[in-house]
Amino acid sequence: MKIALIAHDGKKADMVHFLSGFKDKLQHINVSLVATGTTGSHIEKAGFKVQKLLSGPIGGDAQIAAMAAQKELDLVIFFRDPLDKHPHEPDVQMLMRICDVHNIPLATNPASAELMFKHLTTAVYDGK
Ligand code: PGA
Repeated sequence: MKIALIAHDGKKADMVHFLSGFKDKLQHINVSLVATGTTGSHIEKAGFKVQKLLSGPIGGDAQIAAMAAQKELDLVIFFRDPLDKHPHEPDVQMLMRICDVHNIPLATNPASAELMFKHLTTAVYDGK
C-alpha cells in the first residue's frame, strides 16, 4: 500500500500530529509513504520513513498527481490550507482532479483522513 502525503505550510503540524497518532499501526502494516519535499522533511523528523519528492510549489504536487494517474497510489492525504494563497493553486486543483478521474481516495482534512486511515488499517489487519 502506498500513501501520498501533502500539507500546506499552515497544516504541516496537523499532518505530523495526525500521522503520529497512527505510528504504531503503520509500523505493523506494509505501507510506504511518499510526500512532497517539505512535508516529507517534517514527517521524517517525526520518525517516519518517507520518500521525498520535489517541494509542492516547484512540482511536487504534479509528481504526486502523475503517480495517482499511473495508479501507483492507494490514498492521497492532502491537508490544504483554505485560509492561505498558494502560487501553485493550478497544481493543487490538478492533483485533486486526477484523484477524482482515477477514483483514488483523497482526504483534505484530518477528520476525513482519520476515517480513511482507520478503515485501511483495520482492513489490512483483517486481511481484506
Ligand atoms: P511542501 O509542498 O511539502 O514541499 O511544502 C506542499 C504544497 O504546498 O503543495
